[in-house]
Amino acid sequence: MPDIDGSEPTSQHGLEPGTDSERYLTFLNHLQDVVIAIDDQAAITFNNAPPDNWFHDHAVACLAFSATAAHRLLDIYLKPLAQADLPLQQARRENFQDREIILETPDRPHRIWLSVSGGPLPGGGAIVALRDISDRKQQEANVFHQGLYDDVTQLPNRNLLSDRIGFALAQGQQGRQSLMALLLIGCHQCQALTLPGSGLSPQHMLPVLGQRLKQSIRPEDTVARVGAHTFGVLLEKVATCSAAIEIVERLQQAMAEPFIFGEKPTVLDISIGIALGPLGYLHPEDWLQDAEAALAKAQAQPELGWWMAENSLQVQQDQRLQLEIDLRQAIMGNELRLQYQPIVNMQTREVIGFEALVRWQHPRQGLLSPNTFIPIAEETGLIIPLGWWVLRAACHQMQMWTETLPQAQGLRLSVNMSSKQFFQKSLIEKFKAILEETGFSPHRLSIEITEGVLIEHSDSIIATLQQLQAMGIRLSIDDFGTGYSSLSYLHRFPFNTLKIDRSFIDNADQDFDKLEILQSVVRLAWNLGLDVVAEGVETQKHYAQLKALRCESGQGNLFARPLSPEAAEALINQQGHPPVSDA
Ligand code: C2E
Ligand code: MG
Ligand code: MG
Repeated sequence: MPDIDGSEPTSQHGLEPGTDSERYLTFLNHLQDVVIAIDDQAAITFNNAPPDNWFHDHAVACLAFSATAAHRLLDIYLKPLAQADLPLQQARRENFQDREIILETPDRPHRIWLSVSGGPLPGGGAIVALRDISDRKQQEANVFHQGLYDDVTQLPNRNLLSDRIGFALAQGQQGRQSLMALLLIGCHQCQALTLPGSGLSPQHMLPVLGQRLKQSIRPEDTVARVGAHTFGVLLEKVATCSAAIEIVERLQQAMAEPFIFGEKPTVLDISIGIALGPLGYLHPEDWLQDAEAALAKAQAQPELGWWMAENSLQVQQDQRLQLEIDLRQAIMGNELRLQYQPIVNMQTREVIGFEALVRWQHPRQGLLSPNTFIPIAEETGLIIPLGWWVLRAACHQMQMWTETLPQAQGLRLSVNMSSKQFFQKSLIEKFKAILEETGFSPHRLSIEITEGVLIEHSDSIIATLQQLQAMGIRLSIDDFGTGYSSLSYLHRFPFNTLKIDRSFIDNADQDFDKLEILQSVVRLAWNLGLDVVAEGVETQKHYAQLKALRCESGQGNLFARPLSPEAAEALINQQGHPPVSDA
């Protein structure tokens, strides 16, 4: 190694013993820092050599090996800082200008952070002192990470989510941000599942949940852990409000798949609060608060699955979505009503039961008929909580009448069921729970199903229908004649009652073909051992015709329109004693 000033060495370390130069070198070799001289080609012309100093040997080897690394030193002192190709992010580039550089170490997994000081040498090149500041940098990075990431899941924490929301809001204010959805996702059972002694820790469970969430959304969206058992998701660039809901429902489906934490699969109940933005929000906290309030509502009514914060401007601008949100509110906020339409014995005109028909007491639009909202409920899956609400409320009402009015003892109850409800795995348990809770006898309950249910589920439904029947519940095929009317259904599925659609009754007195069909359907039902109920009996002529055909029961405006509970109660009171027993 040449001398520091380039002159030829005269002893083992190149210096005259006892000279100033040797004393300086001894001094330099006691430093823990690397001190090197480089020429203007970035070749090392001198380095100090403290004994047993890994960092020193390594740094020198790296600099000698990597011309780029050594050139960076030169750049600091001799050239303008123009190396745009450095793989450094903005923050590091600033540090670089603060004379801190990163030394890539090919044989070690981490980088070495160096602080650099020194200056140019008079004849060209530079003398530079390098200090290893990697530990300090690592600590700083840890503090930075802890401030923005969650230790357990390694996902962004609330601070970072809030930061990203803030960025989205700023973009929104400049008109550069499309619709976004902020979701807060909570799991009720998480706390109970991870109690001490349960064998499952949050450290084990939460990362699995976080990963499932991440896998269910696009990579550019943020998933964060924002509370003990709550995750936040920021969905960017959502096309429309309904697209946001589609994503939410996809997320729900993904989260509904069982988790394998220990040995047995666990199904978690996930509730989602949604707040659409960025329109209408100024601060991240406001947006988060709306999503939190929406989550609280979703958790209060787990069957709903999700709840959308209705005060966001985006929601107010979308009428279809508004109706859907109103309907959620209706199910939760007690705006649904039931009317009861009597089903009568055709011979005696005595009431033998009621069909429960749902109505919506809309706060602005008044009493709405099911035709206006059942299709939306079907489309959005809200028919599931709605259907259970109807079953529970109707059974409860009938049981109240049974307990207070002697004439109500044997009356039957018919409840409509949507095909969507048959997708639920827990359908039988749900029926059992509602019947137990209300005390209503399953032998007095009829479930009305349209042909659509049978087409959609065909084979899988048979077992469910048989289970319902084994509980004593009767099964009716509703609106018979409007769907495919395949006679094979009547054979394959275990029905008790056939309800003939009103389109067959209407004009049957004038239209001979219709009368023929009506007659055949009644006969067919008899042959199959099914009871027949004629729907839409509006006139005395209909009544006479059906009576002549010996159709047993009927329902229609001639006998009574759907009645409010009070009117139905008055009708029961006017009746003689009940003809139908409880078995
Ligand atoms: P549906 O089950 O066939 O109910 C009979 C419908 O016919 C009722 O209409 C009833 O008001 C109407 N109706 C009864 N008698 C007459 C009559 O003499 N003339 C005429 N023109 N109509 C008559 P509503 O209450 O509007 O219900 C319509 C449909 O909405 C129901 O048809 C049923 O499919 C559905 N729906 C009602 N409540 C529920 C429910 O709780 N759950 C489900 N899934 N669907 C329901
Ligand atoms: Mg019906
Ligand atoms: Mg019907």
